[in-house]
Amino acid sequence: MKAYDRLFIGGEWVAPAGTGTIEVINPTTEEVVGRVPDSTEADVDKAVALARDAFDNGPWPRMTPTERAEILTKVSQAIQADMQGFAELITMEMGSPVAWGTMAQVFAPTMILDYYAGLASTFQFDEVRQGLMGEVLVAKEPVGVVGAISPWNVPMFIAAAKLAPAFVAGCTVVFKPAPETPLDAFRLAEVFEAVGLPKGVLSVLPAGREVGEHLVRHPAINKVSFTGSTVAGKKIGGICGEQLKRFSLELGGKSAAVLLDDVNLAEALPMLLPNAIMNNGEACIAQTRILAPRDRYQEVVDALVESVSAMKVGDPLDPAVEVGPLVAERQRDRVEGYIKLGQEEGAKVALGGGRPAGMDKGWFVEPTVFVNVDNSMRIAQEEIFGPVLAVIPYDGDAEAVSIANDSSYGLCGSVWTSDPERGLKVARGVRTGTYMLNSPIPIDFSTPFGGYKDSGMGREFGPDGLELFLEKKSINLPAGFSPSV
Ligand code: NAD
Repeated sequence: MKAYDRLFIGGEWVAPAGTGTIEVINPTTEEVVGRVPDSTEADVDKAVALARDAFDNGPWPRMTPTERAEILTKVSQAIQADMQGFAELITMEMGSPVAWGTMAQVFAPTMILDYYAGLASTFQFDEVRQGLMGEVLVAKEPVGVVGAISPWNVPMFIAAAKLAPAFVAGCTVVFKPAPETPLDAFRLAEVFEAVGLPKGVLSVLPAGREVGEHLVRHPAINKVSFTGSTVAGKKIGGICGEQLKRFSLELGGKSAAVLLDDVNLAEALPMLLPNAIMNNGEACIAQTRILAPRDRYQEVVDALVESVSAMKVGDPLDPAVEVGPLVAERQRDRVEGYIKLGQEEGAKVALGGGRPAGMDKGWFVEPTVFVNVDNSMRIAQEEIFGPVLAVIPYDGDAEAVSIANDSSYGLCGSVWTSDPERGLKVARGVRTGTYMLNSPIPIDFSTPFGGYKDSGMGREFGPDGLELFLEKKSINLPAGFSPSV
């Protein structure tokens, strides 16, 4: 049992303004494993005031990017020194299989921290441009005080994706993790505190959506960096639009994996499947629509069913387990609701559809494969966020692209073929922010990641992710003066 009675506000552990608490329930055992204060609007006000002061008057934005980067490097090293501890903590909070989680939930965040620490010394913050009428210094400056909001599914990954570029830029941050996963966020706060992050630069306030919205609306916040559902993203984008506040949104997805008719299934499926049912299917980039050529449809279904049925379901702390429980009872209800809906819509369950036998504790759902799916069905259009795949037939590459694009989302996708040139044509045709061509890697942290359409606005990772936390200023220079940049 991990219990906190204080919040991390402005770099110190302080008593909360309210008396409410958030209980963290282990989705495998259904037992309470953590308790933290439920932050209130008054806590947000206090944290924002400290972040504002640290930005306007403190040393942080005035340090060099490489000085700030040293903090990130130390944080990365501290996490790497306790990979197992972080992975088990996150698994206890939200059920991610620990083997996958050690890489994706813990090691990947350290890669992100290290990438931005490195970028601090190569990124061109100042640039003298030859303008039309003279020389101009284009200076990239920190956007100010950031409100960062994250979901529970890959909590530390998202924290790193926001904090690392924000800190290299020189911003101060009030971070609101999801109420399901406050423990890893507090653990991360302890690490930032231990490596000497200046006071005021970071606050961590676990809370629900109302308090999150207060953070978004707060007039002293200059930029909102949000990751979560499309519904919440639209609301937050609307508020920021009215206030002309900078914002970036990383939202939901319903990605399509296109198997072309020349695909070698034995090669492709081992790369595709971990990206289809990753993180118990609770992943924004999960490839949950499988597009199969009609004349190889049954062969694809048979191979998929064989591979998915071989995935080990069970206690996510067991390193051999590939599918653990869903984050919460309400999430299992939601996924089971979609499984029922799919059958009502006329799709057929080829595998799974129920709860795993003999597991009476924990919010488990069997990995499920739907066949005879039409792309217009709700199970093909809506984000289920569970281990549920829909296999959709198509005729010809052009129809595959058209089905892949028949979605309100555009986050990720993949194509699998023996002919990379043909695959590249498909990749270029799909309206989505990230794509995998015969590749098991959905995101490379040195390149832009984000969504077309309802999947978001802006791009995280790479230099693009740093630009999200910068404003540009053009200073027209007098003739004969060349500043050193
Ligand atoms: P959610 O939108 O319900 O909540 C996400 C976070 O936003 C939580 O911290 C929540 O408290 C807060 N929140 C909700 N409404 C808010 C509001 N009106 N104002 C301020 N804060 C608000 O999403 P979730 O269920 O926690 O997470 C799952 C979703 O996140 C899925 O749709 C998934 O695809 C998406 N996601 C996207 C990415 C990406 O990079 N594109 C990554 C991970 C998850």
